[in-house]
Amino acid sequence: MQFSKIIGQQKIIKRFINTVNTGRISHAQLLHGPAGSGKLELAIAYAQYVSCTNKSDTDSCGVCPSCNKYEKLIHPDLHFVYPVVRTKKFAKPISDNFSGEWRNFILKQKKHRLDVWLEQIATEGGQAGIFAHESSQIIRKLSLKTFEAEYKVMVIWLPEKMNQSSANKLLKMIEEPPMKTLFLLVSDYPEQIINTIRSRSQYVKIPKIDDESLAQRIKETYQLNNNELTRITKLANGDYFKAIDTIESGDNKDNNFNIFVELMRLSFSAKIIELTKWVDDISKLGREQQKAFLKYSIKMFRENFIYNNSPSEKEDLNYFSTDEETFSLKFSTFIHQNNIFDIYEEFNKAHLHIERNGMDKIIFLDLALKLVKLLRRKAA
Ligand SMILES: [Zn+2]
Repeated sequence: MQFSKIIGQQKIIKRFINTVNTGRISHAQLLHGPAGSGKLELAIAYAQYVSCTNKSDTDSCGVCPSCNKYEKLIHPDLHFVYPVVRTKKFAKPISDNFSGEWRNFILKQKKHRLDVWLEQIATEGGQAGIFAHESSQIIRKLSLKTFEAEYKVMVIWLPEKMNQSSANKLLKMIEEPPMKTLFLLVSDYPEQIINTIRSRSQYVKIPKIDDESLAQRIKETYQLNNNELTRITKLANGDYFKAIDTIESGDNKDNNFNIFVELMRLSFSAKIIELTKWVDDISKLGREQQKAFLKYSIKMFRENFIYNNSPSEKEDLNYFSTDEETFSLKFSTFIHQNNIFDIYEEFNKAHLHIERNGMDKIIFLDLALKLVKLLRRKAA
């Protein structure tokens, strides 16, 4: 991971680069700061920079043999320690038991957060921690000679999850580190780390991500209009993970509304060619966004059904935004007891199939064609 992948944090990046260029790399650094600020990513990018054999003043090169291995997280002098769980297979689990999952987590997941990590490995519901036997691994790894790089780097993610004996052994390593060893501790709750480790580490406070950089990154990943972008950036308050949560949980009303209106308009007038274009567009979105759209649609149908069929309950429908209400005024007359149940079923089925990794183009085209028929059914 290069510094260029980091969202914002220019000051911190300069500071890290400076430690390398002036030869003042503290051997134990504790990166801490708010959730979603990019601490873990920064630690990895810093380590890659330290080891890069062709670094510039602003970043690692990304292509030298060292960077190449760093990009895949397979450099022999880069070690990770992170919380793991006891499973049937691993009664005394250590980080290395889960190294495949870990690489996947870092390289493929956008949210590097404990709950997301545990979803990947804690399928049997065990408690997460960094257990006692991990410390002997740490000692073994750090007593090896470096293979290729000048520095051995050990990134410890969430050291607050270490048990006491593990933490004590780590402390010894930090107190008397082997030559050219760099410990990067990345913590959400530094106050929970044992005092002696904290006092021997250099604190590096990572601030929250600035709004401008955050908005820029969101824009590169998701298709949002400007109002939505501003709203989500504000809501996230510098937390990239929260921004993703907000977008992917379907709290992305304006965007889903526009996609919904378009689908209804085209289905209603049976514009098949334009519908296939709509299918192409929605197929470009991620699965989470597609699922969020389907959930949003189900909610819209439900409210339109009530709007049309239970005038007495209309007053209670305060879920509608102004745009939604204006649209529903007319649209709701087409949602009635002769089609609502089938519409529900089709949208729920599509949701299930998307979740099971079905072909999204086929699923959405099928859904759109069914909708053409269903919207044409007469109320009575
Ligand atoms: Zn390089």
